[in-house]
Amino acid sequence: MKDIVLAGISASGKWTQSQKLLEYFGKKMKYFETGWILRSLQSTDNAIWNYLKNIIENGLLVKDEIVSGLFWVFLETLEDWDIILADGCMRKLRQSNEIVRLLENKNRDFLVIELVLPEEEVYNRLANRIICKNCWVNFNASLTWDIKKCLECGWEIYRRNDDTNKNAIKNRIEAYHKNIVPSLEMLDKKWYLIKVDAMLSADEIFQKILEIIQK
Ligand SMILES: [Zn+2]
Repeated sequence: MKDIVLAGISASGKWTQSQKLLEYFGKKMKYFETGWILRSLQSTDNAIWNYLKNIIENGLLVKDEIVSGLFWVFLETLEDWDIILADGCMRKLRQSNEIVRLLENKNRDFLVIELVLPEEEVYNRLANRIICKNCWVNFNASLTWDIKKCLECGWEIYRRNDDTNKNAIKNRIEAYHKNIVPSLEMLDKKWYLIKVDAMLSADEIFQKILEIIQK
């Protein structure tokens, strides 16, 4: 059984796959999602959150050292039998190198699974994306056009401003090529990378991921 690091451009379905994996493996699987962990610091007035607040709220990337530092803490909490599911921790080459080093130091048997989505589909999906303010489930507005509340938990839903703006989407795609693609190339050279077609259905992708990690 291998640990999983998920990678993929916006709207490639990482969130959906994470939820499926967490449901399937239950407590055996330990989840590290950088954004969630950072945001969880906001419940109290504390020095770390006060520092991170502006960076996160402006959609900027936090320093590599913060991500890898948190990941190190995360690794310290694990038992040998736990399975890792990590997302959002390999956003830049230097960061990815450090995460790989930490995983290798702990002798973790891991794979990076990239959900590969064509660019035009990124535009399509983001333009139609609605997100729940509470549970972050994504819905596709073109499929569920009359949705008023989250279908999962009933909370308010919204569209991200940068989802409806073509230039913002273009910037995200460019940032992906500039920052994440070099990381993926490095991982590929080290035999850690497996690509999965993100155009498949969510269930088909999930089955492929299960096959890959259980090999
Ligand atoms: Zn919800």
